[in-house]
Amino acid sequence: MTDQNLDLSDALVHLGRGPRTPGRAVNLPITQGSTMLFDTLAEFEAAREARYQPETLYYGRYGNPASFELEKTIATLEGGAGCISVSAGLTAVTLALMGAAKAGDHVLVADTVYTPTRNFCDTVLQRYGVEVSYFDPMQDFAPHFRTNTTVVMFEAPGSGTFEVPDIPAIAALARAQGAISIIDGTWATPVFCQPLKLGVDVVVHSGSKYIGGHADSMIGFIVCNEATYAPMRKMVLAYGDKAGSQDVFLSMRGLRTLEMRMKAAEAAGYEIASFLQDQPQITRLLHPGFADCPGHDFWRRDFTGAAGLFSVVTKPCSDLQLHAFVDALELFGVGVSWGGYESLVLPVAPLRTAKPWDDPGRVLRFNVGFENIDSLKADLARALPLLD
Ligand SMILES: *Cc1c(COP(=O)(O)O)cnc(C)c1O
Repeated sequence: MTDQNLDLSDALVHLGRGPRTPGRAVNLPITQGSTMLFDTLAEFEAAREARYQPETLYYGRYGNPASFELEKTIATLEGGAGCISVSAGLTAVTLALMGAAKAGDHVLVADTVYTPTRNFCDTVLQRYGVEVSYFDPMQDFAPHFRTNTTVVMFEAPGSGTFEVPDIPAIAALARAQGAISIIDGTWATPVFCQPLKLGVDVVVHSGSKYIGGHADSMIGFIVCNEATYAPMRKMVLAYGDKAGSQDVFLSMRGLRTLEMRMKAAEAAGYEIASFLQDQPQITRLLHPGFADCPGHDFWRRDFTGAAGLFSVVTKPCSDLQLHAFVDALELFGVGVSWGGYESLVLPVAPLRTAKPWDDPGRVLRFNVGFENIDSLKADLARALPLLD
């Protein structure tokens, strides 16, 4: 089953394993291996020559049957020409940027990207002679293009603040200016949005979030359209990074239940967001599925659902109150990352330079997990008065 028009549920269950795996088990096994053996020197030389080509068995670092099946599955889900699996989501971001930009280029980066993405741009990229500037993805950014702009990097929705930009418009403007567009699509996963079909050139994912789905794996994916795939694969493989064998296995396993987990996360997210919206301590909801979220209409047009990750803004409060509230929560863990089965809470300080974030309240990001929804509400109800 490789049909790009395959039903999503069927694709998630059947892709990447064929009617019979070699061992007859339902799932492909974890594939460990460095050296691969060849019958003749001529066969080896042919593999070495083709090592940057997809699905070429040459040496473990370039991929193995399990990673190739995962890459093909994710490429099919996204409607892409191909996918490269790497060791983490941030690696997917940084290697996609390194693969697309060179010294002397200018890279336009959305003000709302994941903070470590911004950090990479401001440190490594600039150090390697790439100019970086930030734009507000919710405004027309045509004036920000320079003659040497070759890459536009953005995220939908924005990290921590969840405003949804006009994906097809950004992709079209980048293309018209001769630049490659790269989107971080981690929040939506291919279940809720397929940006390549909206004109974006490259989609990156942290598979450590919903795709793995159980907070036990770290992996990243770079999914490319026809024009960008071959050069990107060659560049990324040249860096020598690779996804771990166990993480490849866990990603494939996660994909099998991704659609139902996304739907459950969406429903739980709506419940908790609606509950929080009604609380006197909460002044604003930052959730793409609610009408007052900037870009809500773009979300309705381009996405088929909302993840269980969103933020709220509290009334202005002291650090002491913020700590008291977060520490009083029993079912919401404190920590980075998200997309696992467990609920999390994290204060975020939106770092913005193109358009300063000026709400005086505290931004709290919630990952709603699969606990009993009434238990989650009761936990919040007990702790919220600590913000008064
Ligand atoms: C977590 C995250 C990343 C980085 O992924 P890791 O797998 O943790 O390296 C990149 N982009 C977004 C939007 C993320 O949330």
